[in-house]
Amino acid sequence: MKSEMQYSRIADKIRSAEMILIGIGEEFRPGLPNPGLAAEAAPYAAWEYYRSLPDEDKVIRAYKALRKLAGAKPYFVVTLNTDDLVFRGGFERDLVVAPCGSMEKMQCEEHITEAGPICEKILEEIRKLPEEKQKDGAAAAEVLKKYAVCPLCGKPLHFHVKSEEGYLESGYLDQWQNYNRWLSCTLNRKLCILELGVGFEYPQVIRWPFEKAAYFNQKAELIRVHSRLWQVTSELKERGISVESAPVDFLLSEE
Ligand SMILES: [Zn+2]
Repeated sequence: MKSEMQYSRIADKIRSAEMILIGIGEEFRPGLPNPGLAAEAAPYAAWEYYRSLPDEDKVIRAYKALRKLAGAKPYFVVTLNTDDLVFRGGFERDLVVAPCGSMEKMQCEEHITEAGPICEKILEEIRKLPEEKQKDGAAAAEVLKKYAVCPLCGKPLHFHVKSEEGYLESGYLDQWQNYNRWLSCTLNRKLCILELGVGFEYPQVIRWPFEKAAYFNQKAELIRVHSRLWQVTSELKERGISVESAPVDFLLSEE
């Protein structure tokens, strides 16, 4: 079914649910422009891009539309994304878990620290270089060696994200426990499970457990929105709904 037709049907399902579990995946990421800097500096440029996205950006608008849709219902959000843009939609910090990390944070081998001031300094130093040097990997690496260092122990820092080697899982575990506690309260409740643009990057985080949660709770419904991977397992029968759409476009289809 076309997404415009399905939007109101799904909005009704959310309104009639008691609790809402939201999963956010790869398709919710904003596309990154070419930073015009060396590859070594690209993650810092991405950090800056995410932070400077205007309210009119469609990803931000989609997050706001999603927050509005959830309304006053008890909700929990699990996101695969590390851009922290979900908070721009007005979701509460203690009701979101990001198991793949957060670009608001950096880490060494053992400490997690705020990314903001460090990233700003690194970008400032790289942009002070002559233009051809800004695209030079060795020059960028020199800047990183000097400024991407842990304020506690002096060891090299990188973003606190799962794709980096040595990712400190401890960063999200407390929140993961809160999520599991919340999830245990959904049993026998009318639960709406809304999965938005989640593919197979880390299926063990959202895709598979959401199917399982829907399967074991007879009152649950799973709504899967994805431009390509929208199929829902036949075991869920009529409690599984597929929407063939990119999630951002789907959420903005009422605008
Ligand atoms: Zn350290």
